Amino acid sequence: MRPLAANFRKNMKKRPVIIIGGGPAGSATTLYLLQAGIQPLIIERRSFPRYHIGESLGGECRGALKLLGLESEIFAQNYPVKHGVNVYDPNGVPFWVEVKRRCPETNVLIPTATWSVTRSSFDSILLNAARDRGAEYMECEAVAPIQEGDRVTGLQIRTAAGALENLHCEVLADCSGQGTFLANRGITGPKVKGGYANQVAVYSQLGGVICDAGTTPSTVAGNTLIFYKQKNHWAWMIPISETETSLGVVVPAGYFKEQRLDKTEFLRTELLSLNPDLTRRVTNTNFLEEVRTSTSYSYSASNYTGKGFLCLGDSHEFTDPIFSFGVFLSMREGEFAAEAIAKYPSENGASNGNPFVAYEVVNAQGQDAVRDLIGCFWEYPLVFTRVASGSHQDDITDLFAGRLYGEIVEKNVSRAAMRRLMVARRAEAASHGKAAPASRQLKGLASTTL
Ligand SMILES: Cc1cc2nc3c(=O)[nH]c(=O)nc-3n(C[C@H](O)[C@H](O)[C@H](O)COP(=O)(O)OP(=O)(O)OC[C@H]3O[C@@H](n4cnc5c(N)ncnc54)[C@H](O)[C@@H]3O)c2cc1C
Repeated sequence: MRPLAANFRKNMKKRPVIIIGGGPAGSATTLYLLQAGIQPLIIERRSFPRYHIGESLGGECRGALKLLGLESEIFAQNYPVKHGVNVYDPNGVPFWVEVKRRCPETNVLIPTATWSVTRSSFDSILLNAARDRGAEYMECEAVAPIQEGDRVTGLQIRTAAGALENLHCEVLADCSGQGTFLANRGITGPKVKGGYANQVAVYSQLGGVICDAGTTPSTVAGNTLIFYKQKNHWAWMIPISETETSLGVVVPAGYFKEQRLDKTEFLRTELLSLNPDLTRRVTNTNFLEEVRTSTSYSYSASNYTGKGFLCLGDSHEFTDPIFSFGVFLSMREGEFAAEAIAKYPSENGASNGNPFVAYEVVNAQGQDAVRDLIGCFWEYPLVFTRVASGSHQDDITDLFAGRLYGEIVEKNVSRAAMRRLMVARRAEAASHGKAAPASRQLKGLASTTL
């Protein structure tokens, strides 16, 4: 943090909003801000199109793309159409969650679809739309926030030519993804490990994978398939074109180390052994691109808004990729952030408190629901499967689609039950078994609420 030289400040143009990062969070925030008549500056350090993992979109992503006027452009890409997700247990038995939307007039669930995308092109479509519609753009690196007292007032950047420059703004929006720009610089509360911080993801792409080839929603080729062997040991299969499939394996870091295999050999071995229904689909292991790994991807930062700043998407929290919430959460938080920024007092000196408290409260609803959903799946897979395919199937359909905010989630009975279950479970873990066992809660919940 460098104090701003007063004479420099006088000559500086003060921008309304500077956004760090041109991923889904940064582009969506920009597009919503432009709709509200605010023209932000995006700072992105990489040249687009750039590689990114995370190809399976949630159901409500489609709604967001429609709201942003991008649905037809996405259709034109001919991305595989995803009707839902099949989750295979260790014996190869699946449970199915279909992508459905809620009819605004009747509230009835209607089958719909979303996409599995190649992130390099998908993220570019969003970023190009933001630029074409009037956002200012600089390909350069965000280096440090500028502060005046407890207020963030700008950003120091390193230009492509290597020069340091100070830029000033009313609001700095951190959309830096796993770069966690503001959290790493102590502007937010501390960044703490998430529940899956000790997991490792190893992934690449293959051709010749045997995808489903049916015509009913649960058997079409574009669906996302998840396979698991045991708790925290699972794989994804996401078709990203007619000939390429994204495949990844996620395991505890200790297990990965114990295998003493390089990442390519590890991925090969796991794809051929992790789950029978996965193995039968893999016809070769000649990877189409480099095998990559992601570690330490699960974390959260508290107090991620304050005077003159807010964080969105992965820049403040990411739980786990298993049910494909990342892109959706980033885009939805972009919508909430733009609303909050549009209400931001134009004379920012007039606001003495944190103007973005309400934004953090809304976000927490979605992030908490995702954390509890994934936690419940791993802790109580049998109950979870029963709920997902039984009388409360609609609740699970809503949660998987991303209806995680407001009245709809407050009235979601299964969501409430998962909350109680996971609160009890965490209390039990924290007291090393001295609290009432979560299993007692589970018994009650399974027979009554669920
Ligand atoms: C193994 C794995 C699998 C996943 N699978 C899925 C999936 O199937 N579906 C799904 O929805 N999500 C998935 N995700 C999550 C998803 O990819 C992310 O949640 C999503 O990309 C977050 O979007 P974002 O805009 O917040 O961050 P990003 O997409 O990461 O964008 C951040 C941008 O900020 C830029 N940046 C960072 N620091 C700076 C800096 N200092 N200066 C300038 N620019 C900077 C970066 O270059 C980047 O372009 C997965 C995640 C992992 C780890």
